[in-house]
Amino acid sequence: MGDGARSLLMRVLSGAGCPPVRMKCFTIRCFLLWCCWWVSAASGEAGISSHDEQENGSRSWERLLVEAERLQVPTKFLRVVPPDFIHFEFDELRTYAAEYHPGEHRMLLNRTLSLNAAGRVLKPLGRMTHKELEVFYHELFHAYMDYITVRDVQLGELGRDSETLLLFAKEQQVCRYGEVMITPIVQRMDEVESRYLTEAESWEALNETWAVFVGWVVWNQLELRQQRGKSTFRGGQDAHQWIPRFKRAFENGEFRGYYVPEEPDERRLAQKRYLAKSSQLSLEEALAILEQAFGFSSDFVKVVDASFGPAWRATCVTGKDGAN
Ligand SMILES: [Zn+2]
Repeated sequence: MGDGARSLLMRVLSGAGCPPVRMKCFTIRCFLLWCCWWVSAASGEAGISSHDEQENGSRSWERLLVEAERLQVPTKFLRVVPPDFIHFEFDELRTYAAEYHPGEHRMLLNRTLSLNAAGRVLKPLGRMTHKELEVFYHELFHAYMDYITVRDVQLGELGRDSETLLLFAKEQQVCRYGEVMITPIVQRMDEVESRYLTEAESWEALNETWAVFVGWVVWNQLELRQQRGKSTFRGGQDAHQWIPRFKRAFENGEFRGYYVPEEPDERRLAQKRYLAKSSQLSLEEALAILEQAFGFSSDFVKVVDASFGPAWRATCVTGKDGAN
């Protein structure tokens, strides 16, 4: 990755769990995210954690998987990542931000996500709010994508679907993220411009878009589970609860990522460029993530796919323009 594409990957907790129908949430989230960018950039230097804290973070990985199972949130993609791959750190990210730094495999979390806010070990997942879990899973997915793209990694039996997903991601990077529509002013979703992205930019745009979807799935799974008193995605009935939310989110253009422009002049105009609704996640991408990263049953995925119909399917063609 180039110098300008540091891929500081962050999400704001306070906006992350907005109900899908409330469009203003995105605006609020982005505004806060701007603030967070500068706050965390300023405090990051001073917040380097000790070795002990990193080791504690690694040790908590196994515990994390057990807790995720208990909460019935997805663990398939997490099981591909070795326990010591992610270096967890905690810091006072005053506006509830989290970051993932791919080059260093470093996840910087707000202290509020640590046990007793002590900044040493991860808080048990069961004590996290749904919003916190959404953000945490968003960052975990960045870590997973980081891991599966590391050269010479042998994914083995466990990671066969990850290899398929990575190949698919590379295809999508070219055909859907090489040229995108952006919203130059994030609050004005209808005003869009076209941009050709560099390789690093398009990879970041894809990663952010996919991670937004991952966080959304987890948040909705937890919300539905709370409402119904049991896990979703265990059968056909559950799909009927989940699909209307999914459709609404698509229609609202919620699955949109961003990238940090590499070009200094462009970056002077905007630290981040947010994708427009026409460049949001495609149905094909969503289905691939559900099946290959989350391990949802192919029956469930088929029901979701069928409920959308052919009109929703995008053909992946290089240079394709999205519909307005
Ligand atoms: Zn992110």
